[in-house]
Amino acid sequence: MIVVMKENVNQDRQNQLIDWLKGMGLGVHVSAGEFQTVLGLIGDTSKVDMDLIASLDIVESVKRVTETFKCCNRKFHPEDSIIKVGDVKVGGGNFAMIAGPCSVETEDQIVAVAKAVKASGANLLRGGAFKPRTSPYDFQGLKATGLELLKIARKETGLPIVSEIMNIADLPLFEDIDVLQIGARNMQNFDLLREVGHTNKPILLKRGLANTLKELLMSAEYIMASGNEQVILCERGIRTYSDYTRNTLDLSAVPMLHELSHLPVIVDPSHATGIARIVPSMALAATAAGADGLIIEVHNDPIHALCDGAQSLKPDEFDALAGKVRKLREVL
Ligand code: PEP
Ligand code: MN
Repeated sequence: MIVVMKENVNQDRQNQLIDWLKGMGLGVHVSAGEFQTVLGLIGDTSKVDMDLIASLDIVESVKRVTETFKCCNRKFHPEDSIIKVGDVKVGGGNFAMIAGPCSVETEDQIVAVAKAVKASGANLLRGGAFKPRTSPYDFQGLKATGLELLKIARKETGLPIVSEIMNIADLPLFEDIDVLQIGARNMQNFDLLREVGHTNKPILLKRGLANTLKELLMSAEYIMASGNEQVILCERGIRTYSDYTRNTLDLSAVPMLHELSHLPVIVDPSHATGIARIVPSMALAATAAGADGLIIEVHNDPIHALCDGAQSLKPDEFDALAGKVRKLREVL
């Protein structure tokens, strides 16, 4: 249920209403817009007398929110959420250009890629240290060492770092990582979602390869209901009948998620296609569809990459793409 307050209501009277609602055992999510405040009620609202609340002179309207996702629901928070990562803002008109290799391999590699993508205008550096690989025989990531190498790259470039966490037990290792990525395969690892929900770090939540938008939003809800509202949603392609691409990039997810939720939505064209030469087209299409950012795999030596080389752009290819994305955003 949401309670839309009248414009510029008396703060004390609003607080009295919030206390009264909390007294009924409800959670109250306050979204203060420029003129109007919306109170989102969380919990069992079946016994709440809607008519009584609607009759208060400080209340403009009361509506039931039928969707099961509440905290991430646009109805609870009509304005776009802006997620801050250091000085970088994501959402609400702020575009995140996240780039870097699939996996951190060596200090030279991650520092070289970080410098290159920064020079091309990236504002966040990605790099996997814990890799969810389909085969147990494939490179699994440098783990703690990989995270240390990312920190060196951050120090060299000033770019905040994004890295995937696969296991709750590894959380202490991520204390100094700027954005925690929850990968597609862990989108419904509810214990992990709850645990990152207890941190104060921005979470990059990727859509599972066979998950609906509602399921993605329910996973965001797990994080937010645990207290962490800094969630960035990521469309990274889903499994369909596509035979020539790794996945199918569901671009309609971007406007639809924007309609349903106030959270920023970014797109990963690398895992969506699996093919470097197709990545730029889909990155531009995602930008045109209104994405709040892109996450793109870039490697300085893709042929020898330990993971996802086929979909990795070379630094000069990324540079050309970043320029086109900027131009397209100006036109938009
Ligand atoms: C990745 O970002 O390297 C990754 C493994 O992505 P996804 O979880 O979307 O497959
Ligand atoms: Mn990858």
